[in-house]
Amino acid sequence: MDYDPDNIFARILRGEIPSTRVYEDDDTLAFMDIMPRADGHLLVIPKTPCRNVLDASPEQMAAVMKTVQKLSHAVMKALGAGGVTLQQFNEAVGGQEVFHLHVHVLPRYEGQPLRP
Ligand code: 5GP
Repeated sequence: MDYDPDNIFARILRGEIPSTRVYEDDDTLAFMDIMPRADGHLLVIPKTPCRNVLDASPEQMAAVMKTVQKLSHAVMKALGAGGVTLQQFNEAVGGQEVFHLHVHVLPRYEGQPLRP
């Protein structure tokens, strides 16, 4: 499947759509999910075009997961979460709605289920 350069996250990367950016390095960007299913719900994306895991290079996967790990530690410490749930969807049939690779980092709190 092709990469659409006008998908929402590509537009966030270009600064065309506002977002709450929480972390950035040479290869990745993290920002708050607009409809958080947990307090501190983040999305981590590569800065280079990539539709999803099925389309990703090993370098893109490594960069995204490095940031996911770093921010998982950070949100647990900053927000007092007891754990994190990671979610990642590929293609519409796999539950993907925005077609730029992203990993959800969902901080988890004792006794609190994820919001729908
Ligand atoms: P997925 O592709 O992982 O199934 O769903 C896309 C995710 O992106 C959803 O959690 C949704 O709330 C989030 N999202 C969709 N549009 C925007 C947006 O414009 N800004 C931000 N920050 N998040 C968005």
